[in-house]
Amino acid sequence: MVNKFWRLLVTLAALGLGGCVSSGQPLPTQAPTAVLPTPVSPTANAVLSAADLPASPTPANMAPAAPTTAVTQAPPVVLATAAALPSPPPDAPPAPSATAASDVSADGRAAAIGFSAGGRPLTAYQLGGGPNQIVLVGGMHGGYEWNTVLLAYRLLDYFAENPDKIPETVTLHIIPAANPDGQFVVAGRDGRFAPTDVDAAADNFSGRFNSNGVDLNRNWDCQWQTAGMWRDQEIDAGEFPFSEPETAALRDFFLALQPTAVVFWHSAANGVYGAGCPDLYQSAYALAQLYGTAAGYPVYESFDSYAVTGDASDWLALQNIPAITVELETHESLDWEKNLAGVTAVLKSQQPGGVAP
Ligand SMILES: [Zn+2]
Repeated sequence: MVNKFWRLLVTLAALGLGGCVSSGQPLPTQAPTAVLPTPVSPTANAVLSAADLPASPTPANMAPAAPTTAVTQAPPVVLATAAALPSPPPDAPPAPSATAASDVSADGRAAAIGFSAGGRPLTAYQLGGGPNQIVLVGGMHGGYEWNTVLLAYRLLDYFAENPDKIPETVTLHIIPAANPDGQFVVAGRDGRFAPTDVDAAADNFSGRFNSNGVDLNRNWDCQWQTAGMWRDQEIDAGEFPFSEPETAALRDFFLALQPTAVVFWHSAANGVYGAGCPDLYQSAYALAQLYGTAAGYPVYESFDSYAVTGDASDWLALQNIPAITVELETHESLDWEKNLAGVTAVLKSQQPGGVAP
């Protein structure tokens, strides 16, 4: 029964997202005539295991990805969120492609929201089913900031094991690796990895960029410039804003979702930063204060150690979406207790009666 239900959901999702279905994805030859069953609990808010989800073929455009030794034990899944995804506002662009993923967690509903320049999936995990969308993003700077990827996976595991910690008003989205190409350079694998996969003592700077050599946090359409800066070095910001498939996919994901709050983890400046383009966006600063106070990080209006152009959180401020940058203390630590406290504060602010940032 469960399998039949999910196959039906997946079939309907595939039909509804027809324009987005990856090539190689077989469509049914005959549309089902059945009415979509009403998803009753526990499916509406259930945390699904990979075993609950039907297998699907690997999309053809994932072929260029490098060997994925970390994810061979489980089959790719098709996201079945026909009943779970929120309705975007009327003027929002089409929903992001949410068809398949190769990076299967045992927990959460997983979907590839796009693919990297190197052909690797950008996987988003979705937990809970409330109307307020919270998005947590690790690994924008790939393997150079590999600890942010591990922090995201640890939080994914925590909330999958403790679904009661997610308010009923919230759907939590976690994207552990926004730059999977850069992760692969340093960790040597896609998907989950262990700290022992990384040579923390090495110069992992090359893992900051995607396969095109672009710094993905200089490629967003806020004060974008061809040459971005990292400290006193010029770095490649892409040919134009959103020239990179990763930033374009994230942009579309955010615009469709209209999140209430977005957190980007970086390392290792030790602080929480608001956003704005160019002036400070007060809602982002309020979010920074909420997170930073709970976590015990210093809170700043903006990152001003050096000029940053094309920043993700600044572009989100232009969309009236509060987003913050959380810089972990070092390139190795997860600052686990701090970030659990920060995320928990953001989630609680979404409860009825909670103090919204
Ligand atoms: Zn960074």
